Amino acid sequence: MITRRRAFLQENIMIVASDRLEQASEVSRPSWQHQLSHAIRDPRVLCQYLGLDDTWLEGARTGHALFEVRVPEAYFKRMAHNAPDDPLLRQVLPLGDEILAPAGYVADPLEEADHRPVRGLIHKYAGRVLLIASPTCAVNCRYCFRRHFPYSENSPSRAQWQEALDYLRDDPGIHEAILSGGDPLAASDRQLAWLAGELERIPHLKRLRIHTRLPVVIPDRVDSDLLAWLGNTRLQKVMVLHINHANEIDQAVVDACARLKAVGVTLLNQSVLLRGVNDDVTTLAVLSERLFEAGVLPYYLHVLDPVQGAAHFDVPDEEARTLVTRLRDHLPGFLMPRLVREIPGEASKTPL
Ligand code: SF4
Repeated sequence: MITRRRAFLQENIMIVASDRLEQASEVSRPSWQHQLSHAIRDPRVLCQYLGLDDTWLEGARTGHALFEVRVPEAYFKRMAHNAPDDPLLRQVLPLGDEILAPAGYVADPLEEADHRPVRGLIHKYAGRVLLIASPTCAVNCRYCFRRHFPYSENSPSRAQWQEALDYLRDDPGIHEAILSGGDPLAASDRQLAWLAGELERIPHLKRLRIHTRLPVVIPDRVDSDLLAWLGNTRLQKVMVLHINHANEIDQAVVDACARLKAVGVTLLNQSVLLRGVNDDVTTLAVLSERLFEAGVLPYYLHVLDPVQGAAHFDVPDEEARTLVTRLRDHLPGFLMPRLVREIPGEASKTPL
């Protein structure tokens, strides 16, 4: 009896101790805002941290002049040292190739300028609109189709948000608001909680969708402040993460996904098919498996949007179709992402 009681006490003391250790490590980690503001912004520093020799520096400077470097520590820690082909590094390292301008590669490949009826709002598809909730990102992805987006013209103040909100109120056919950016989760929780509160008062809105890379590149972004407003809204919540390679999903990302699911967020993922990052069957199959282990369903596999500066990532459509056909031999149907292209003017994404 005494032995059993002692074992019980010891077990509980260990649980309390491990809880305290966990809390202590959370407390000792810098806040997500600190991590965001201390992201690497200098190509030389990025090359040095990752042990790349100087042959990479000139190209990195050229690309940086076109679209600046931004890589938070929590993300570059997942990269291999002295490995220029690392699939995470390839997504963020500027290259001299970005200066090439092949025919068809343009600043606004999706012609979003034609679909901005009011400041900070893009309305391309029936039933849903996209709100530019933040002009910045936690990481600057070299293939981003919005790398030339005029954020300065589309960053409404709170007063200017009223115009976008009025647009939503006036159209009962809109059921979904999509927070985008930049990365919408780069905005403060105070701002996002206010916006979510305004949106949920619009009776015909059913869903709040958030497209973000922040829970992946800085998992600490999924903190109690975010979970509080997200968990409280009456709107159905969908978060579309943006993960291109299984190496991006470490334990911190898995834990962040679990916290989001605990407050009722449906988690989906979209990837971009990128030359040198994920353009082979095994890589894509492992990504789908790893996503599902983290509680995230693969949703879209986009072919590259032809944005100026990103042509070196392109995988031709025929090769993309072959890859996806072969991928079907490795995965159950529910882990197969849909291969799509966004064509300006079309009423939805176009399956390939
Ligand atoms: S909008 Fe998304 S893809 Fe583009 S740079 Fe930001 S995080 Fe990367």
